[in-house]
Amino acid sequence: MSGPADARKGGVSLQKAVFLDRDGVILEERGYLAKPDEVTLLDGAAEAIRMMAGLGLKVVVVTNQSGIGRGFFDANDYKKVRERMNTLLAQQGAKVDAEYNCPHAPWEECACRKPLPGLVQTAASELALDVAGSFVVGDKRSDMELARAVKARSVLVRTGYGKETEKDSDGTWDVAVDNISEAAEVIRDWVEEGRVEVVDCR
Ligand SMILES: [Mg+2]
Ligand SMILES: [Zn+2]
Repeated sequence: MSGPADARKGGVSLQKAVFLDRDGVILEERGYLAKPDEVTLLDGAAEAIRMMAGLGLKVVVVTNQSGIGRGFFDANDYKKVRERMNTLLAQQGAKVDAEYNCPHAPWEECACRKPLPGLVQTAASELALDVAGSFVVGDKRSDMELARAVKARSVLVRTGYGKETEKDSDGTWDVAVDNISEAAEVIRDWVEEGRVEVVDCR
């Protein structure tokens, strides 16, 4: 089958997206990463992002940065890390379309800390995204629960905290893979099979 696999069955055509967690998915997990010179792309991350963008998906980073709310670092440190990541990606011809972060500590009870869907909802309205049937790639249970909350398909990666997450018997995800490269391949298969229309939240 060829042609745009995500053509809508009538109605407004909103774009589907892949929502990527940052730490432990694109970047090496450092635990409250706040220094640009500690930003390290995981193997294959740039290529995977290029592949996902090539599928016609918006590539959107959604990241909890409670280190800001906890006072470990500030918004400017976060911005420098983001810029460093984007520079490293650009060196390999990859780019994310947008990045949204929750800067709050858990006790602030905000509406944007994953697994709450605030970041995705903001992205959806600002970027005109079709969230249901989009994709979430993450290494933590909060990422997988986010996917369920917004009726997106979920891919657990075994990088970062992913191996620990996989042992969590209460966790649910559509598929678990070794890394973001394999996540991109799974998503490519879903898109090419036209299965992106299917939404079956377990
Ligand atoms: Mg993570
Ligand atoms: Zn928040």
